[in-house]
Amino acid sequence: MTSAKWFERAQKVIPGGVNSPVRAFNGVGGTPVYFKSGKGVNVQTEDGTELIDFCGSWGPLILGHARDEIVDVVAKTAADGLTFGANTAAEAEFAELITTLIPEMDMVRLVSSGTEAVMSAIRLARGYTGRRKIIKFDGCYHGHSDYLLVAAGSGLLTGGTTSSAGVSPAATEEVYVVPYNDLEKVQDVLKADGENIAAVIVEPIAGNMGLVEPEPGFLEGLREATAACGTLLIFDEVINGFRLAPTTFGHTIGIEADITTLGKIIGGGMPIGALGGSTEIMSALAPLGPVYQAGTLSGNPVAVAAGMKTLELLRDESPYLKIEILGKKLADGINAIAEEKELDLHCAQRGGMFTPFFRKEAVRNLDDSKACDQKAHAAYFHHMLNHGFYTPPSGFEVAFVSAAHTEEHINAFLEAFSKL
Ligand code: PMP
Repeated sequence: MTSAKWFERAQKVIPGGVNSPVRAFNGVGGTPVYFKSGKGVNVQTEDGTELIDFCGSWGPLILGHARDEIVDVVAKTAADGLTFGANTAAEAEFAELITTLIPEMDMVRLVSSGTEAVMSAIRLARGYTGRRKIIKFDGCYHGHSDYLLVAAGSGLLTGGTTSSAGVSPAATEEVYVVPYNDLEKVQDVLKADGENIAAVIVEPIAGNMGLVEPEPGFLEGLREATAACGTLLIFDEVINGFRLAPTTFGHTIGIEADITTLGKIIGGGMPIGALGGSTEIMSALAPLGPVYQAGTLSGNPVAVAAGMKTLELLRDESPYLKIEILGKKLADGINAIAEEKELDLHCAQRGGMFTPFFRKEAVRNLDDSKACDQKAHAAYFHHMLNHGFYTPPSGFEVAFVSAAHTEEHINAFLEAFSKL
């Protein structure tokens, strides 16, 4: 049965036919593709076509689809029990590995999604500091918990709205939303109300308004300004973590957040999230401290096994230089073609992350990203799809080059792109 037929069926029983809004192709139009199987960079669709995947399940698949070692360990672990709701040796070993690779984490708590990790990190920051308010950045997405659906990015943006119905105004009133890369605004807010602000939360490299890098001094400034008034700094590294090195981006650049959240890569394709920090801060979590947080499937043995194998492979094989070279080749190629054909776009790239922004000028915050030509992005998306390449079906997302991609895949992508 075709994707179109499946979508028709699904729409009757799943809201919008999807289990996460951005999958509905609202930002690009047309009928969503139904995936059947994946191996390496290839996915088979229900339409009987094969696509080369540059979306990578939105980030977890840094090693590509169904890597043998990960599938093996998942199958083996599953055969020994899918969930216990009790402690396992593997989760202790996984926490040891994470805290070894991420020195700013003395302790880590596992949850089942990025949303849950961030939601818990915010509660922890509030409980630890005894303060109510937070600062977030416009266009940074931190999952769909109430306090963070304030001018949030990702699927909400594609839907053309900047917040969600059903969120209590009481929640959003406690959140300051500041433009990304605007350190001065943060300093002003902290100066005015710092004693009530529990945390500043940021994606160190933003990935939910397309790829937007922190300008020099921005993250350093956040660290300094928060430390000065006892406000915690939360790095949401759900996308960034283990993306550019086998550790956090914060550790790579020598800026220690007070709490760091992880997801995606650390589950190797299984549902997982994590939050970590110093022993002092993490000890505020139940059962040691007063901040309640829990989960039936937290530390799920299958997810832990997939995550452990993924981190070990990343540590031992270190594919990061290869991914960076391929990512740069892809972005340079796109930019050269855009120049030659006088297309109104430029491609941002860092490591395996890239976003073609459909305007020439640099993008440094959400307003810039919104000023890009979304119709041109949709045309690009469908052009690439028709040529056998799957990229994120939204102009406000990052695409991913994985360790499974090769120069041939990049060349083929560029060849197709040159026909745009
Ligand atoms: N934080 C960031 C930076 C994210 O990109 C995402 C998801 N894209 C989340 C949090 C939420 O993670 P999840 O979808 O696993 O709930």
